[in-house]
Order: sequence, then C-alpha cells, then structure tokens
Amino acid sequence: MASNDIQIEYFKNPEEPTTGTKPKVYKDGQYNDPLYKKLSKINGEINKLTKVELQGKLKEHGLDSRGLKEVLKKRLKNHYRRRNLRKSKMKTSGKTLYDYLAVIDFEATCDENNPSYRHEIIEFPIVLVDVDKMEIVSKFHEYVKPIVNPKLTKFCTKLTGITQDKVDKADTFPVVLERVETWLQDHQLGAEKSFAVLTDGPWDMFRFMYYQCKESDIEMPAWSKKWVNIRKSYCNFYHCGRGGIEVMLKNLGMKFEGSPHSGIDDSINISRIAIKMLNDGCGLNVNEHIQIKYHPHETGTVSARYEPYKEECVNDSEEEEEDQKKKKSEKTQDKWENESHDTFVNEIEKLTLNDVEKGDDDEDFDDLLTYYKLQKT
Ligand code: AMP
Ligand code: MG
Repeated sequence: MASNDIQIEYFKNPEEPTTGTKPKVYKDGQYNDPLYKKLSKINGEINKLTKVELQGKLKEHGLDSRGLKEVLKKRLKNHYRRRNLRKSKMKTSGKTLYDYLAVIDFEATCDENNPSYRHEIIEFPIVLVDVDKMEIVSKFHEYVKPIVNPKLTKFCTKLTGITQDKVDKADTFPVVLERVETWLQDHQLGAEKSFAVLTDGPWDMFRFMYYQCKESDIEMPAWSKKWVNIRKSYCNFYHCGRGGIEVMLKNLGMKFEGSPHSGIDDSINISRIAIKMLNDGCGLNVNEHIQIKYHPHETGTVSARYEPYKEECVNDSEEEEEDQKKKKSEKTQDKWENESHDTFVNEIEKLTLNDVEKGDDDEDFDDLLTYYKLQKT
C-alpha cells in the first residue's frame, strides 16, 4: 500500500467530536474548525496521488473513475469532504442555491463569415434539472419563426440541422416566449420553486436573448437577466482550461450524445455536465448577469454589458477560498477582479466579430468569435 493511501485511510475515520455548528469563518476566509484542517490535509494527500492511484481509490469507493486527473482529484476530495461533513453534521458550503436549473441553449439564424449578422432565435429549448435529485425532470422545446431573415441560410441549416419548414411552421418569438412563461408557471418555477438559468458561456442570454427581445420589442424577462455560466463554473471547479461542450464532456470522460448545434441536444449535454458537477460537489450558482442602461437624453440609446455576479449567500468552500487566494496571487491582472464598476465589461451594442480586440489571455476572453472557435476544439 502506498504511503499516500495510509494517510487517506487514517483520515477516512477521524475520531473527531461532532460540533453540529457551522465552522467559524474569519474575515480572511480561513475555516478554523479542526475538521477543515483535516480535510485540507486529506486534499494535500490526494494532490500527491497519480492518476492510476486516483482511479483505484475512486473505484474502491464505487465512484466514477473516468475523466482528467484534475477531475478525478476533485471527485475524490469531494467524496471525503462529504463523508466527513456528514459525520460531523456540518452543512456543506458551496451548495447550489436553487431547486432547479433551467438549461438553455439557443440556436439562431446565422451566416458563414458574417460577423454583423442579426441573429434571431430559431430554437428555444429548456432542460429542467432537479438539483436535489440530480436528474433531468422536464423539457420545453419549440422552434421559432425568424422575421428579419425569414429564409435560413444553407450554412445555418447545415450547422444546426434546422430546416426551413420547421421555422415556417413555428410561431414568432413573443408567442413562444409566452408559452415558456406558462411552462415555467406550470412547474411553479419562480414561485414555490426557485430556479436559475444555466448556459454554456454568456452568449445565450447576453447576445441572443437580449437582441431577440429588443428585435421583438419586448422586455427581457427578469429570469433571463442572470445566469450560471457553466464554462466558468467548470474551470473554477476542476481547474481545467476553458472549452466548449464537447471538451468539457471529454475531460469528464463522457461523450456528446445526439447532434452538436441542435439546441435541444446541446441543452441535454450541458445538463449532463451540470449533473456530473453537482455529483462531484460543485455548487452551481449564478455567476454572470446583464446590465442594461437606458440613456433618455441620447435618443433611443441603450447600452448593455454583462458582468460577473455573485449570489449574496454563496460561501466559497474552504478549498475554493484557498484556490481563489492562490489564483489572486498568481494572477494579479485578473480581469474579473480588477474590473472597475463603471467600466463596461462588454459593450455589445458596439461589439461585432470584426472589431473584437484579441486578448492575450484566452481563458478570460469571452467574445463570440472565441465561443464559435471553441465549439470546434
Ligand atoms: P451553438 O450553441 O454552438 O450551437 O451556437 C448557437 C448559435 O450560434 C448557432 O445557432 C448560430 O447561430 C451561431 N453560431 C455557432 N457557430 C457558428 C459559426 N461557426 N458561425 C456562425 N454562427 C455560428
Ligand atoms: Mg447550441
């Protein structure tokens, strides 16, 4: 037996008195309960394990052993963490704050190499994930008739698989949105049940939904103004490089099911990633929102930006706190941290694929061009 294993076995059964209370959290984010010190030691031991050792340990505990080394580490750490916290009757932090996650991946009209294309939503899917059950419990799926460019380009049909007859038969966006609202009500979402929108990147709500509401001359629904950007949560949680749905799945040792760029299939696959992350102990909470500013004195001028967002009662877990501190010291020029409040992070009214500046740091560069590119990686 490797020395690492001995350490872990020791910590698997700590003879610790149970406190039953929340750990004391100091201003600098340090958790002072002895159990947290122990968990921190376990994490240190897990960090030393090789991929094969990690797989062995996971199998031993009947856990999924597929995925990148970073994913396996996180999964094993979470296993010990959950067990120990449960034993001590402590509430785990980093929890998802909602009953449901509404996973949305729009498809829109488009053309090849046309960055200034006026995208209109043509497929509106919602996959509802029950956070406690960690499973898909319902789906909404409709096609939408575009008005500005009613004829789909060959490129668009090839990319999305959406044919002309599907959108011809469909209702316009305001009508479909009405049915979405009814569906949400039927599921008591936003009433008895809390929910948050979850998307792959900021673009579904920030670009497609925002522009579509503007085009259709309707208010953007409140629930669509903030969302969980799963790419961001994924990178922060597993410490993997940023990538599209297929990359995230591959890193988890999973495969895309269905057709890429089909809105409903994309949404189902994003849901599979979200479920795996919930299983691995990740709290999926809103991390971005849109801010819309009306300028009454400059006739008809509206500007919008999206920004990082943090739910008020989200406590980072002690490990995430540690990671955050490490990140901060490693990366003093962190874009999200350093953004001043009156700086527009992304002014989409001015943003086209031609005029986006190329950033040095790809990880933090969330433009639509990168987004498209990442779909292919
Ligand atoms: P996705 O969720 O990746 O399927 O993309 C959502 C929408 O973005 C598509 O329905 C298209 O309107 C647009 N899109 C995605 N990839 C491209 C691309 N390579 N070129 C132009 N538009 C794209
Ligand atoms: Mg899609």
